[in-house]
Amino acid sequence: MSSEVWIIGSAWPYVNYIPHLGNLIGSALSADVYARYLRLRGEKVIFVSGSDVHGTPIEVEARKLGVDPQEYSEIMHKIVSELFRRWNISYDNYTSTESKIHIKYVQEFFLKLYERGLIFEKEDELPYCPKDRIFLPDRFIVGTCPYCGYWPARGDQCEKCGALLEPRQLIDPRCAICGSVPEWRKTKHWYLDLKKLEQDVLRYIESNDRLPENVKTMSLSILKAGLKPRAVTRDNRWGIPAPFPGAEGKTIYVWFEAVLGYISATMEYMERIGRDVNEGLKLWKNSSTRVVFFIGKDNIPFHSIILPALLIGSGEGYVLPYTISATEYLMYEGQKFSKSNRIGIWIDEALKIIENVDYWRFILIYIRPETKDSNFSWDQAIDIINSILNDTIGNFIHRVLTLIKRKLEGRTPRVCKLESCDEKVRDDALKTFKEVENLYHSIKLREAVHKAVDIARIGNKYFNERRPWDVLKFDRELGESVLGVGLHLVKMIALSLYPVIPDSMSRLWRMMGYSRDILEEGWRSGYEPVPAGLTIGDVSPLFSKVDRDEIRRRLDALMKDRAVRWSRKFPWEQVIL
Ligand SMILES: [Zn+2]
Ligand SMILES: [Zn+2]
Repeated sequence: MSSEVWIIGSAWPYVNYIPHLGNLIGSALSADVYARYLRLRGEKVIFVSGSDVHGTPIEVEARKLGVDPQEYSEIMHKIVSELFRRWNISYDNYTSTESKIHIKYVQEFFLKLYERGLIFEKEDELPYCPKDRIFLPDRFIVGTCPYCGYWPARGDQCEKCGALLEPRQLIDPRCAICGSVPEWRKTKHWYLDLKKLEQDVLRYIESNDRLPENVKTMSLSILKAGLKPRAVTRDNRWGIPAPFPGAEGKTIYVWFEAVLGYISATMEYMERIGRDVNEGLKLWKNSSTRVVFFIGKDNIPFHSIILPALLIGSGEGYVLPYTISATEYLMYEGQKFSKSNRIGIWIDEALKIIENVDYWRFILIYIRPETKDSNFSWDQAIDIINSILNDTIGNFIHRVLTLIKRKLEGRTPRVCKLESCDEKVRDDALKTFKEVENLYHSIKLREAVHKAVDIARIGNKYFNERRPWDVLKFDRELGESVLGVGLHLVKMIALSLYPVIPDSMSRLWRMMGYSRDILEEGWRSGYEPVPAGLTIGDVSPLFSKVDRDEIRRRLDALMKDRAVRWSRKFPWEQVIL
């Protein structure tokens, strides 16, 4: 075990709605798999995230429902936390941007940037709705597109022709919330002078060889175009009050405070385990700490440029991200996930159709959009459960364990006599196991899972050809050893897949007769066979097939029910009740 600490962060979900499968794969689930892999290696891991609860969309959503934004976001935070718990996401601290430690940390942090001359004020004219009494962010002002005549084009972009717009360009602009004609009002904002930090961020991106291609390419192209000052304040009421002199009534723009949540969440974690919050802060200033983020590709600039710029700008010697894993997009049956068009499956709904969360975790990592967009389809998902999980992996494991149970009185075998064909199979599997390790190490989670399935394929082929039940009849020692090789492969599968399907693989670990749990034995134990003489526990199939028609039926019912559910005040009330 090494002495450094790994801080794993997954993107903070914006909780005006709950995450869908595409959101989950890029952030929470991928991060969880990697965090579990590191723990399996005996590393010290602090895995953090939280709900991003401030800002206009939540304020507007709460107003629509006639509740206070605070109350609304507390309920949403509870629901999302509970769903992550059901998805077995092993956060050490899942908090929210309303946490007291976060608010205090953010205010002190921005005041420091202000004192260091990195924040300046500027006056602007922005659209204001006199009826809702708020300044309208770009997405909350609509009008006719000046290029194609489409209505309602948003203040930042026309959905129809794709033109990038400024709210000023819209013809006949309206408030997207109430339809009123907005006024243009003068307002002052505080800007972060990103230009001053550009060179330092560029040096960081260029010198970090661990950053994957997609992160590096996007970051460099943004830096090449040049960084412009960005407003860090908003005229929202619902947010963290801006600490700058004269900025009363302004709040910090959510994007600039949520990214600092990784640090405040680490501090809060320390407090929760009975230590000092400053120990959490010290970890972020310790050069041996490794910070790894898991995000969707739309989040790249905030994690690779904005956060590093903030941390460098503070002059406090923070560590910068060790690496950032950014997924491409997951499509749903060939289309983009979209709430307004009701395309996709949300993480509460998914568990109503297939209850076993390990099945979902396996499917999603198996199709993880790692280097290019990938597609979720029900047909493929069912195939993955039935033919990969059940027939290939589950079947091999079950064959090995039941043979040991029946033929060897349930005692794990002695590997004492191997022929060259047996040694070859064992060595092939060990080589594959080592490849799985390397793939996890470079955060190629999808490839790691595919490689792990190969170990089961090697095992099935081996048993079909070697027929250990026959070998046992004429050479007991050799037959036992063949079963021992099979069991060693089962152990490699258990370790390889534990990060992805932890419940099933922990169960398998107990079946194999270990008294210590899988985390205590650890990843490296996979290079050694299972010790002889352990007692195999109760053996039952780990997975079972799902019925295609049944899945279709459930899906149809869910879609019918959706119109009713989504029209409710809180469509997910049942989650926390
Ligand atoms: Zn247009
Ligand atoms: Zn309005």
